Amino acid sequence: MSEDDSKETSNGVDEDEWHLYASADYGAAESLENSEPSNEEETDVEWFDGDDFYQQGDSIDWDAPPCPAPLGIAHVIKIGACDHCLHRIGGRRTQSSGFEGGASLRKEASSRDPGLSDFDIPDLCPLCENLFDDVGNIVERIIETLEETQFRSMQLGIHIPKDLLQSEDAIRTKHGARGSKPLKASFAIAIQAEMLRKTPEIAFVKEYPDVMVTVDALTLRVDTDVRPVFIYGRYEKLARGIPQTRWPCRSCRGRGDGCESCEGTGLQYRESVQDIIGDPVKADMGASDTSFHGMGREDIDVRCLGSGRPFVLEIKNPKIRETDLADLESKINSNNPEKVKVNSLKWCHKKDVSRVKETRSEKSYTIRFKIEDAPPEDQIIESINSLSGVVLEQETPKRVSHRRAAKTRKRKIVSISDVVVDGQEIQFSLRCEAGTYVKELVHSDEGRTVPSVKSVIDRECEVIWLDVNEIHAD
Ligand SMILES: [Zn+2]
Ligand SMILES: [Zn+2]
Repeated sequence: MSEDDSKETSNGVDEDEWHLYASADYGAAESLENSEPSNEEETDVEWFDGDDFYQQGDSIDWDAPPCPAPLGIAHVIKIGACDHCLHRIGGRRTQSSGFEGGASLRKEASSRDPGLSDFDIPDLCPLCENLFDDVGNIVERIIETLEETQFRSMQLGIHIPKDLLQSEDAIRTKHGARGSKPLKASFAIAIQAEMLRKTPEIAFVKEYPDVMVTVDALTLRVDTDVRPVFIYGRYEKLARGIPQTRWPCRSCRGRGDGCESCEGTGLQYRESVQDIIGDPVKADMGASDTSFHGMGREDIDVRCLGSGRPFVLEIKNPKIRETDLADLESKINSNNPEKVKVNSLKWCHKKDVSRVKETRSEKSYTIRFKIEDAPPEDQIIESINSLSGVVLEQETPKRVSHRRAAKTRKRKIVSISDVVVDGQEIQFSLRCEAGTYVKELVHSDEGRTVPSVKSVIDRECEVIWLDVNEIHAD
């Protein structure tokens, strides 16, 4: 037994990504890159080195005061701002916002200065390159992509080319009203507003969204990331020969294709606790896959009884996030009732994965083994009981030394009970510290565990079976 063995890792990639999103300030709906251009380089007017303003250049007053001064607004109109940007950096209160608000500012300015209507509006707004025209289109794509996915909350990330952000910042800093919203934040707000208009039941959140959406303003590409859901529970493994998690086939390394040794399944063992539990969940929630995180694991040939071993099932890309857990529990329990059963299912969070994986708790076992040339029964019973309360020294067992560093651990046998001698076969129960190698306690692993049952009864011991009776956790 290696109780604190934890081969399965939580998805490290996910975690990194998560931090990326979570640390961004989504209050202002910032992008993932989060690199607002600095205001430091307030160059003169080098940003208009194109020919956009050439024809009208003579009548543009580059020293106009910033908005909301009427001359400032006139200037922003003259350089060709779209209505959306005019409203955004104009610094005037209007009845409506966005394009409509900008149109009313433009109208007002034209009535003050009829000459303004002579200025042609260029095809491309120098502030946003007409990004706001795409908002409706982008939102449609988001909705289309998530059409079959249930979600209540969303987090938005925006990528905008850096040079556009820099030139926008230069214009806004010089000619916009103080406190005008930067392009990226405004663009995100516009997308959120349109999204909420179409799907008012969802919420935009700063952490733990159901879905993350990234929009690339350059290509208008929309990427969605449906976040996993997590279910906590305890499992009983009632049959031997089942690994806790899926094992890829050794011959084909899980590829499956044409492999004779796994008959194309890609699996070393057809069944696993992970899949017996996970398959009905996948079907129920329309998920793509599962990850299984157990509080330690038992060997393949060891049963796990009592109230079961705590685990967290991570359900990836679920189409349905809200399902009835009692119903799900009975679906799992009818999947393969002679082999695996679950209890105590409840929703949990990603952070529970590490909590469950890191918890070290005492466990109770029953072990049966065989000896030859048995000494008298009462002598056997007395010798085994003498191990109660003893602190073992266990070197890393040979069978796991290829994947664990060699070291000697001290582990306490808390108690021993129910020693039964049945001819050549002996059975007893024990409670011990987390991380005790129980099979090694019996057969001694060629003297690597001291003391051992072998050493106290002075006979070779061959383990027949081992059961976990209880994991004293939670
Ligand atoms: Zn614009
Ligand atoms: Zn194979």
